[in-house]
Amino acid sequence: MNITNNLNQILSQLPKHVTLVAVSKTKPVSDIMEAYDAGQRIFGENKIQDMADKYEEMPKDIEWHMIGHVQRNKVKYMAKFVSLIHGVDSLKLLKEINKQALNHNRTINCLLQIKIAEEDSKFGMSATEVRTMLSSEDFSELKNVCIKGLMGMATFTDDTNQIEQEFKKLTSIFNDLKPINHSNSDLQIISMGMSGDYKLAIDCGSNMIRVGSSIFGARTYNK
Ligand SMILES: *Cc1c(COP(=O)(O)O)cnc(C)c1O
Repeated sequence: MNITNNLNQILSQLPKHVTLVAVSKTKPVSDIMEAYDAGQRIFGENKIQDMADKYEEMPKDIEWHMIGHVQRNKVKYMAKFVSLIHGVDSLKLLKEINKQALNHNRTINCLLQIKIAEEDSKFGMSATEVRTMLSSEDFSELKNVCIKGLMGMATFTDDTNQIEQEFKKLTSIFNDLKPINHSNSDLQIISMGMSGDYKLAIDCGSNMIRVGSSIFGARTYNK
């Protein structure tokens, strides 16, 4: 596995408007340092404790993205440094993020996870739930969070047609919601696409892709 080559290969084909999040979950600091030395600064982790450990050990100009499901009681462990939380799926969670951000006197950027997949295993909100939340008074009081966009995960399937439909659904929801901006929301980011489907995701409107195994190699355990 040549991490530098893999990274450069992907970056060379990426349109300028697309941001690459290098998903380093389960990978050791030495692997992440190789990507860092090749110029990569944005890394994604799906476990808060792992991300916090890596944050402590690694250069401080790294932007750490939380891409996994977030448990409310663990938000405090990443509140001082996390740069973007992709998987926000409830007002309750957002309130906790706001509280912890306030403790650190900062604003935490978040993406709302939309459920686009058929599978029940995938987390996320519906377009209606998001719309209702964004226009609620409870939400407007959360001064220490900013909603920067939406995130979605397609169904785990070989059916490219289905994946394409789900990606297009997320872009369409994004386009519908984009005009309703508040002081604490500014919808700019569509986070969708992983190693197997990021090209399709970009064709369907993604401007932030989360790529792990194509950079760092297969993970020995998943999720
Ligand atoms: C693991 C993971 C990825 C990266 O998956 P790869 O197939 O290794 O590129 C992207 N997004 C989320 C939410 C993940 O958990």
